[in-house]
Amino acid sequence: MDKGKSRTYHEHMASLDITAKLAILADAAKYDASCASSGTSKRDSSGQRKGIGSTEGMGICHSYAPDGRCISLLKILLTNSCVFDCHYCINRKSSNVRRARFTVREVVELTLNFYRRNYIEGLFLSSGIIRSSDYTMEQIVAVARALRIDHQFRGYIHLKTIPDADPALIRQAGQFADRISINVELPTELGLERLAPEKSTPRIEAAMGDMRDWSEDMRDANRRYKSTPNFAPAGQSTQMIIGADDADDRAIIAKSNQLYDRFKLRRVYYSAFSPIPDASTVLPLKRPPLMREHRLYQSDWLMRFYGYAAREIAQATDASGMLRLDIDPKLAWALRFRDRFPVDVNHAQREALLRVPGLGVRAVDAILTARRWRRLRPCSRTWPRARHCQKFLTARVTMGRFSQFSK
Ligand code: SF4
Repeated sequence: MDKGKSRTYHEHMASLDITAKLAILADAAKYDASCASSGTSKRDSSGQRKGIGSTEGMGICHSYAPDGRCISLLKILLTNSCVFDCHYCINRKSSNVRRARFTVREVVELTLNFYRRNYIEGLFLSSGIIRSSDYTMEQIVAVARALRIDHQFRGYIHLKTIPDADPALIRQAGQFADRISINVELPTELGLERLAPEKSTPRIEAAMGDMRDWSEDMRDANRRYKSTPNFAPAGQSTQMIIGADDADDRAIIAKSNQLYDRFKLRRVYYSAFSPIPDASTVLPLKRPPLMREHRLYQSDWLMRFYGYAAREIAQATDASGMLRLDIDPKLAWALRFRDRFPVDVNHAQREALLRVPGLGVRAVDAILTARRWRRLRPCSRTWPRARHCQKFLTARVTMGRFSQFSK
């Protein structure tokens, strides 16, 4: 090719081999945090005459990105070209990154080949928007359909869907995928308007509502007719970017709580904003501390497994609405409500025990089981190894430590 002549988009795509595309599109996908494969139904192909893959089992390769995120799924974009211009996104229209695009067939072959070599346990597929939301969604669905129907792929599939696409396409995606997700992107509507003007919170939430309804309908139908296909059995999830706008932790927790309640989400993922090359001037220059992301995950855990209400997490924040970075939110809450401590491990309700810093769900359940049979008391030499005694000690030690904090 004449070096002086600029190449068209199609010529550029044709010149890239699959390894080069993989390098570009796997790298472009690393900004998406929502890839955990938990919560799906068991499915495997052993003992059947056809099929490949499994959503469970051992021997699957796992690797981690430098920032610690799990990349055990083949996590790629179909393309990093996009007609939208979201300020925080490296793949936005005005970004100066190298572009690439897979064909449907290439993604299918890569997934199958990597699966056969035991490199991955499934596929996480997202995409920039090319031509239109519907066209892009059709391509994503075509990949999932080819894997499930043509190749009987039984591994895990997580599809990122596009809220503006035709609901019929999103519904099809849910029939092939284990999990589907739509990124809510930013915690506040104002933030989304400012940083992703082509996106809209009502449209995103409408698509989430549709997915919740289809999922419930399918589950009801499945109870009556076993042959009814599942709709995304691992549920739906979403991702929020933290620190790109000025929303505080209190607002983020309130938003997550609303999303869990309204749309029955399985997970909300928090992704600390990381400055991108050639960043837009409306973005902050520095990334938020990673500890902030960690504290938000801890708060999320408290809401989902420890029975904390969002307003209780809000009580653990400081005057500026931020969670403390030096101590976890459970301890921060306990320090604010010292009058609730100490608790009597022999009589306290489960909810009260779950609020003792240092006691997890398993420890609390062990205490409840143990005290059905005997009164818990400080450890003695004659009883050093009893499991419930160990748990009681944990509670004592925790409360002892807790009392060391000054008011
Ligand atoms: S639509 Fe998605 S890929 Fe496109 S610029 Fe926005 S966040 Fe990036």
